[in-house]
Amino acid sequence: MDYYSSQITKLIEELSRLPGIGAKSAQRLAFHIINMPQDQVERLANTIVDAKKNVCYCKECCTLTDQELCPICSSEKRDHSTIMVVENTRDLAAYEKTGKYDGVYHVLHGAISPMLGIGPADIRLKELMQRLQGDVKEVIIATNSSLEGETTAMYISKLIKPAGIKVTRIASGVPVGGDLEYIDEVTLLRALEGRVTL
Ligand code: ZN
Repeated sequence: MDYYSSQITKLIEELSRLPGIGAKSAQRLAFHIINMPQDQVERLANTIVDAKKNVCYCKECCTLTDQELCPICSSEKRDHSTIMVVENTRDLAAYEKTGKYDGVYHVLHGAISPMLGIGPADIRLKELMQRLQGDVKEVIIATNSSLEGETTAMYISKLIKPAGIKVTRIASGVPVGGDLEYIDEVTLLRALEGRVTL
């Protein structure tokens, strides 16, 4: 039965498609939006549309940005010969928050998962291999310590090592299955400093 007007039901449905938003939260958000002033709702809607339109992948590291090159890749202060490989932009943000890493990144946008049918061609690995043609001294693999993260780390290490580039893996102080973005800065730094050569 449709308790609400079909417009509200539609809004609730759309909101509940978002990750982490259950039916109850979607309902709460929908009523909140309906009660917001018109100009605020328009600003929110426009911000979403603009972000979707203008955000693209950095042509160097594949992170999300609204420039051709992200601020990290275009910075001369960063060490461009050290590349940290992460699964997503949120993980990059977690390491950036520590303020202690001065290399650059490579964002895979996922991890290899035979169970989910995600293979090496489905993540941004080809782009990483292309970057290694340049002057790269170390590749730090900072994928999650989940099964997928470990599988990806092993795959990348096998791929890169023959090129004679140093490949390291962040220390396993990071809890198994733990998303990097939820781990505190001290743990992240310890994992980075305790990285081991593969
Ligand atoms: Zn970049």
